[in-house]
Parts: sequence; structure tokens; C-alpha cells
Amino acid sequence: MKNLYLNKGKDESLRRYHPWVFSGAVNHIDGKLQEGDLVRVLTHDGSFIAIGHWQIGSIAVRVLTFEDEPIDHRFWVQRIQAAFDVRKTIGLVDNPQNTTYRLVHGEGDNLPGLVIDIYGQTAVMQAHSVGMHVCRNEIAEALREVLGERLNSIYYKSETTLPFKAELGQENGFLYGSTSENIAMENGLRFHIDWLRGQKTGFFVDQRDNRALVEQYAKGRRVLNMFCYTGGFSVYAMRGGATLVHSVDSSQKAIDLVNANIQLNFPNDARHQAFAEDAFKFLDAVPNSELRVTKESTSQTPNSELATPNSYDLVILDPPAFAKHRDAVRHAIKGYTKLNARAMEKMPAGSLLFTFSCSQAISKEQFRMAVFTAATLARRKVRLLHQLHQPADHPVNIYHPEGEYLKGLVLYVE
Ligand code: SAH
Repeated sequence: MKNLYLNKGKDESLRRYHPWVFSGAVNHIDGKLQEGDLVRVLTHDGSFIAIGHWQIGSIAVRVLTFEDEPIDHRFWVQRIQAAFDVRKTIGLVDNPQNTTYRLVHGEGDNLPGLVIDIYGQTAVMQAHSVGMHVCRNEIAEALREVLGERLNSIYYKSETTLPFKAELGQENGFLYGSTSENIAMENGLRFHIDWLRGQKTGFFVDQRDNRALVEQYAKGRRVLNMFCYTGGFSVYAMRGGATLVHSVDSSQKAIDLVNANIQLNFPNDARHQAFAEDAFKFLDAVPNSELRVTKESTSQTPNSELATPNSYDLVILDPPAFAKHRDAVRHAIKGYTKLNARAMEKMPAGSLLFTFSCSQAISKEQFRMAVFTAATLARRKVRLLHQLHQPADHPVNIYHPEGEYLKGLVLYVE
């Protein structure tokens, strides 16, 4: 293993167990490194700090360990076992009502660059660093050892998450077993998981708790699930007793998935309808709240309510990350403000807005400010009922606060 020497004084954040070495902190390396190689990180005068994966870019090393230990089978088994023990503690393992969870959440599980989601007996693994890609077979082996009989296949899906400059020619595919079974259970609801073609690992596992909260509030409400993707929120709203649920996504593929998931749980239920449409275009067609007639008594004939435009008194906004990088932050804040203002303008008095940001580059405070500005622009009285975040199986490493990425607010719009 090669040694990497830091500039003088650049070991401070690592002493506080922050798991990244920025390229500006690097003094020199005694040899030539390939992206993905393991490297030993030393202070300027040669004392040991950490071992990690070398990568090209502003983050030069993602730290695997702060101990001078071999990165071998034992290491991977220990790390995955530790992650598995946390999921057991949360109550997500061997739970027939919930077979869907995140087993490894990168830095949050001291495995920077690695994500593993469990769907029934399938693990879907994603490498976000070349180092993790290089180790994929060792990781798969350790995974099988820790999960044993619980696992019958491991699907590797890193085509879109690895730096394409690395030219690894990697392909998505099974590292172990294979399965065509692709239905997983979340809180007793069933979902088709498209890990072959879907976004991320096929499902947004991180909204589980927040979907359950939507279910609690859905009774008797007219729900708009904007940016619905697989329709997670929609299915929960249906079970919660919503009188109408409209799911909107600009991707037709997503709309097909929502319809399939509704059909799986609530076959031929006329309360639901899905629209392949741009969010702003769809909202434009919704009447402003002032123009709105008072809410009809929740009807016995839901079919008559299915035509748009409509008004909604429970709206979910869960857009894709508006800011993928730091330099996009200002633009993203404006985007959140505009979107939330547009939604609030349309909401009748007494409505609920569930609004989210999954941009890591936007802080909780910035997001809250964007939504507050939106409320002012929409000239609505707004109360903050809940502040939401990512669930416990997406833990935040306390030394890596950047790992806190999912933020949500539940607002009561008067
Ligand atoms: N709420 C979802 C996850 C949302 S992911 C869940 O719980 O699983 C973001 C989704 O927004 C994607 O499916 C993407 O197709 C969709 N999207 C992106 N831009 C959009 C736009 N301008 N209008 C509508 N949908 C959009």
C-alpha cells in the first residue's frame, strides 16, 4: 500500500474522524496511484492517520478506517455485520411486514461510497467510488456471510453512480444468484421494485417513515402526490382513506410504475389517477385557492371527481435534488421557493403540505428559509407541524454531518 502525506496542519479534521481527505490537503504520495487504490494517509511527518480509497476529484481519499488494519475479508464482514446489527436494533430485520430497508448507507455506516438496499431476499448494491467498485466481489462475499439464508441474490447497479471518466466498462448485473421476484413489502404495502431500470436502487427507501405520516393525515383528503416516481406516497394515502389521489411525474415510466403499484394494493380503485406531466404545468392548471368553491361533501361517487383541474388539500412535493453541487445552491433555493409558492397558492384553507428536499448541498435552514419565502409570496398563514428527515436506516455519521440530506416540512396552510 502506498503512503500519502498530508500538508502540515491538514490532519485536523481527520483527527475528528471526518472521513474525507480533500485534494488540497495532500502534500505528496510516495509512488503512483490508480483511482480506487487503497492508500495509507500519514501526517506531514509520517504518523499514521487512516486508510482509505484514493480517487480523482476534490475528495482525494474516502476513509475506510482510522486504524492501521488490513482491508480484507474480516474487515468487510465486520463492517457489514455492524450495519446489520443497527438494522436489527431498528426492527427492520426479519419483519414480514417490512422487507425493504437500507443495509449500508455510505459514510453513515463507515463505508464511504457504498450503498446496499435490501428488497426481500435480494440485495441491490451501488458503488459511488471506484474503490468500492474494485472491492465489489469481496463485499458481496461478506454480505452473503452476514445475511446467510436471508439472501438469494445480489444485484450490482453502478453504471450511473461511478465517475464515467474512470472508464471501468462496468455493467449492471447479478454478482450472486438471480431472481425475477421483484415485489417487496414496506409497512405491509407491496411495491414492484425495478432494480434493473429504476432510479437509485429501484425504490426510494428513505421516505418510509414520511409516507406513514402521510397515511395518518390522508383520511377524507384529496391528495396530490407531485414527483411521485413509484407512487410510494400515493399507496399510503390510499390506505389512509384519501377520497382522491392524483400522482404526477414527468416520466411516463414512473407513471406506469405508480399504476402498477396501485393495482397491486388497491386493484381497480377509482380513487387514483396518474398523470405524466411537468410539475409546474400541472400546478398551473389547478385553480387558485380564492377561486375555489368550498369542498364538496366527500362523495359517494368518486368517479365524478377524477377530472382535472382539481383542488387538493394534501399536497406532497418530493422533487429530485435541485442542487447536486455546491455552486448550484442559489439557483436551487429559488427553485424550491417557486415550487412551494405555486403549490401554496392553490391550496384551500386547512390544507396540509408535505414538502421535501433531498439535496445534500442545501441545509435544513436554507430549505426552511426557501419554504418560508414561498409562504410569504403565496400570502398564506402557515404553521409548521412536523420537521421530517431521513429514517434510521439512513444513519448520519456524527463526524460527517454532510450525511444528513433528506429534509421535510409538514405545513398547515390556513
Ligand atoms: N417521491 C418519490 C421520489 C421522487 S424522485 C418517492 O417517494 O419514491 C423525483 C421524481 O421527480 C422522478 O421520478 C422524476 O421523474 C420526477 N421529475 C423530475 N422533474 C420533474 C418535473 N419537472 N415535473 C414532474 N416530475 C419531475
